[in-house]
Amino acid sequence: MSAREWLDKDFYAELGVSSAASADEIKKAYRKLARENHPDANPGNAQAEAKFKAVSEAYGVLSDPDKRKQYDEARKLFGAGGFGGGQGGFGGFGGPGGTGGFDIGDLFGGAGGGGGGGGLGDIFGGLFGGRRPGATTANRPKRGADVETEVRIDFVEAVRGATVPLRLSSPVSCPTCHGSGAKPGTRPRSCTTCSGSGLVTRNQGAFAFSEPCPDCRGRGQLIDDPCPDCRGEGVSTRSRTLTVRIPAGVSDGQRIRLAGQGEPGRQGAAAGDLYVVVHVSPHRVFGRSGDDLTITVQVTFPELALGTTLTVPTLDGKVSLKVPAGTGSGRTFRVRGKGVGKKDGSSGDLLVTLQVVVPSKLDDKAAEALADYAKATADHDPRRDLNELLGR
Ligand SMILES: [Zn+2]
Ligand SMILES: [Zn+2]
Repeated sequence: MSAREWLDKDFYAELGVSSAASADEIKKAYRKLARENHPDANPGNAQAEAKFKAVSEAYGVLSDPDKRKQYDEARKLFGAGGFGGGQGGFGGFGGPGGTGGFDIGDLFGGAGGGGGGGGLGDIFGGLFGGRRPGATTANRPKRGADVETEVRIDFVEAVRGATVPLRLSSPVSCPTCHGSGAKPGTRPRSCTTCSGSGLVTRNQGAFAFSEPCPDCRGRGQLIDDPCPDCRGEGVSTRSRTLTVRIPAGVSDGQRIRLAGQGEPGRQGAAAGDLYVVVHVSPHRVFGRSGDDLTITVQVTFPELALGTTLTVPTLDGKVSLKVPAGTGSGRTFRVRGKGVGKKDGSSGDLLVTLQVVVPSKLDDKAAEALADYAKATADHDPRRDLNELLGR
């Protein structure tokens, strides 16, 4: 495995644990994922197999205290997420690594051409020899973090789409210093200790170690006169109100991504994304079934038996529904195009389910009429099939 591959992997994310997770937490997370994705339990499932391999690899490193320590140190040094794109000067380390050992020398096996012994001195000697000024991890631009928030909208808003204000409390680029951290009118200066790289090299015997610059704490810049509002951080916490367009047809629990509306990036990098989890309050009359709206309409027995025309509400008016004579209770009629609007411009349908209501009380006249009706239909037996089973 090459160094680049190794550092590009986030073993903690693979196991779904934090980088501060205890050995026990790591073991638990691994066991659960390994069980879920085991090839025996998922025959023919390539995705599960890949995940199984990935969690096994992650566990192989994180379960071994020495390997974990090396991995953590390498990540700290080069930044989690690996070399990233466009970091010139690291190319010399792309050679295939050792056989899976995690000695840092092995990781960068072949680099420097120093033979089998290639230790830290080789690595960092080569690293800093080929480094472009300023192209270090410590002070490189960093994409802003993603933010997640929730919003509740009502049923009709979900169907039609809505514009809702969101109040977010999040770090933003300091408005006073525009993110530089320096008091307005002053500018940060490049750190002379590390020449602005944020890293210093310390020689110890035959080896050279690299560590964050103690003077600028790895930033590469020094601020003599810090911005009074953010105390030199360049970031301040502010609540902001965002107006967010929730698309038509959103369903309860759906997560909407708003690109670039998350936290601002550092040093000109792109902002993160904002994820809005939408909760939809139920409607008193209508329900949803995907893109279809549903409604249950109560009817009388004579209406179904004799046929009728019902007026049924829709979200934007009403429709007439012709119910033929002899319609069964519980039957559902489909009214085309009166459902939820879809992305392609078409609409789902309105599903109207008819349900007979039986009066809880009858006056004498009605009872008499029903008794007459029963007599008139005495030869109709709705339970003929059952009676055959019962042997009657
Ligand atoms: Zn500021
Ligand atoms: Zn420095």
